[in-house]
Amino acid sequence: MLDVKQPPRLESYICGAWRAGSGSAKPLRDAATGAVVAEIDSAGLDFAEALAYGRAAGGALRAMKLHERALMLKALGLKLMEQKDAFHALSLATGATPKDGQIDIEGGIGTLLNYASKARRELPNTRVLTDGVVEPLSKDSSFSAQHILSPMRGVAVHINAFNFPIWGMLEKLAPNLLAGMPAIVKPASQTAYLTELMVRRIIETGLLPEGSLQLVCGGVGDLLDHVTGQDVVTFTGSARTGQMLRAHPAIIGNSTRFTMEADSLNACILGPDATPDSPEFDLFIREVVREVTAKAGQKCTAIRRVIIPRAQADAVRAALAAKLGAIPVGLPGDKTTRMGALASLDQREDVRRAIATLASDAEIIFGNPDSVQVTTGDPETGAFLNPVLLYADQPMQARAIHEVEAFGPVATLMPYDDLGQASELAAMGKGSLVSSLFTNAPDVAEEVVLGLAPFHGRVMIGNRDSTKSSTGHGSPLPMLVHGGPGRAGGGEELGGMRGLHHYMQRTAIQGAPRLLAAVTGRWLDGAEVRAGKHPFRKSLAELRIGDQLVTEQREITLADIAHFADFTGDTFYAHMDEDAARANPFFEGRVAHGYLIVSFAAGLFVQPDPGPVLANYGIDNLRFLTPVYPGDKLGVQLTCKDINPRAEGDYGEVRWDCQISKDTGELVALYDVLTMVAKTWPA
Ligand code: NDP
Repeated sequence: MLDVKQPPRLESYICGAWRAGSGSAKPLRDAATGAVVAEIDSAGLDFAEALAYGRAAGGALRAMKLHERALMLKALGLKLMEQKDAFHALSLATGATPKDGQIDIEGGIGTLLNYASKARRELPNTRVLTDGVVEPLSKDSSFSAQHILSPMRGVAVHINAFNFPIWGMLEKLAPNLLAGMPAIVKPASQTAYLTELMVRRIIETGLLPEGSLQLVCGGVGDLLDHVTGQDVVTFTGSARTGQMLRAHPAIIGNSTRFTMEADSLNACILGPDATPDSPEFDLFIREVVREVTAKAGQKCTAIRRVIIPRAQADAVRAALAAKLGAIPVGLPGDKTTRMGALASLDQREDVRRAIATLASDAEIIFGNPDSVQVTTGDPETGAFLNPVLLYADQPMQARAIHEVEAFGPVATLMPYDDLGQASELAAMGKGSLVSSLFTNAPDVAEEVVLGLAPFHGRVMIGNRDSTKSSTGHGSPLPMLVHGGPGRAGGGEELGGMRGLHHYMQRTAIQGAPRLLAAVTGRWLDGAEVRAGKHPFRKSLAELRIGDQLVTEQREITLADIAHFADFTGDTFYAHMDEDAARANPFFEGRVAHGYLIVSFAAGLFVQPDPGPVLANYGIDNLRFLTPVYPGDKLGVQLTCKDINPRAEGDYGEVRWDCQISKDTGELVALYDVLTMVAKTWPA
């Protein structure tokens, strides 16, 4: 436990050591009690050295393969999860209830674990990723191109917001470390003590290569003066600060990648079909109440604008007021509390000022920002605020309600007169992270979602079918894009494996296939091949890309086609009826089934004895290019294209390039055969 009599001075973890600032420290107060929790200062730290140290450390991360990095994240996530009680205990000081803390703590660690598992499922165990297909640039396969993604050689600097001191760090670190780039995290001062605690625990695990994670507690001083074109800066916070940092001379001068997530006036729309007697109406009310009160409304995704059919304005207003009036506000650790405190008294003043500006456009219809009612705690020393609802009768003419983000338990109701206006109102936020729509009508879903999509990073549709399974309006998920255009900052985070790309450079590599294969570790048409022992007799220890089998030829007869049709039940006319087949614009008579061709190909290339090939788990990109007629002779060329030896387990995946051709040389079918192959054989 922290000793509140002698608040600890937070330290930064820079250049391999924990260091205190040398200036006068600023006290950080418990959001709900006002007691000093910690002190913060970063004066005297050498940020140029920190960046140089991080860049040098990047080599160790880059030397690891993707699955090794993913396993590192998994081990880290599991270790941190074991210590979640300590994080939760300290999280109360931020004003967050235990439920709010779960979004931050379990949500953050869960993001690490999710990336760790998705990466091992979806990415190869390589150092370089390929992006898209091979582009043949010559007729004779002597010059081709392939896009690759490789980790940037700089440091990712994450400047984070106060509201999620743990999730905010981990949601960026997960894709960043997976991509193979080191990081410097700068949490917002107000809640940096929780980030500091977690970084201490992370460093103690010894799981990360030294230098891959540094922490700055306090201001970042001249750090941004030293960023280069290989560094990446991400920012979450106010639009004002974000725009200032984006215009920093070093960021502009070096074209440093800058990702920003800032104020977002997220909307929630009630469909015209969702009348008070419908399940969608109740779901909508529940969602708005949850989003206004979770984390005391201090979520970047919280609902700020509630867009409703004018005919339902009174019903919505009454239902929200009844529910919001029953939310006990108080000390976050108290069992009766449903909503805790804002992050600080200053933050509460900011929110009050924002409400006053909103009130120039709208009337306050519920709650009084100046008179706080709590069930526990002291509203003088704790940053409590009851929920506030405003109503703007003519929202199309209003401005402040579409521009000012009151970062607290505050939302504005806006009636619309027709559905087009609902989307228009949402778009007047000039770009948001997320909006949601509650409807059970497919035509409403189509019209509104198409209206919202260009202005949003995520859109959630709620209805009766997903009542139990919906993840909700406000939860950014590791596999989905989190970010938004325009006012929301124009950045993009998460989005599953897409998130790695922000920390990698995409490069088009052109050259002779043999040399491209050496760069990417992937065989492509025109690259070297090796004949000899049947490749299915080779374990991963022996198998190399380019190992190839060219089979004998097999003639396809009419009897084969008739037998296959009879055996499988596939008696489609093109295989059975000569005249009907001829009438088809693609065929000159009865043709062989595509699946017959693929089955015969397997019969041609297979090596039947027990061996290192353990299973065939699928086929990718199957295309039939030329019809096959009775009397045609087919042969197969099977080439080892890609070997993915997993970091764990006794086997890996092997992708085989499979080309079926006629004896005339005409290509009949192309596809990738996917197999699991033992690392050694005999095992
Ligand atoms: P700020 O923009 O002031 O701070 C965000 C981050 O930037 C903090 O880490 C802060 O550090 C840092 N920072 C501030 N000034 C500089 C600078 N000159 N150079 C480098 N870093 C700097 O936002 P707040 O955290 O105070 O939040 C204010 C408002 O931002 C909220 O009320 C809300 O409207 C909005 N916000 C939006 C979020 C979103 O995701 N959409 C999330 C959080 C906030 P330090 O704390 O040490 O000053």
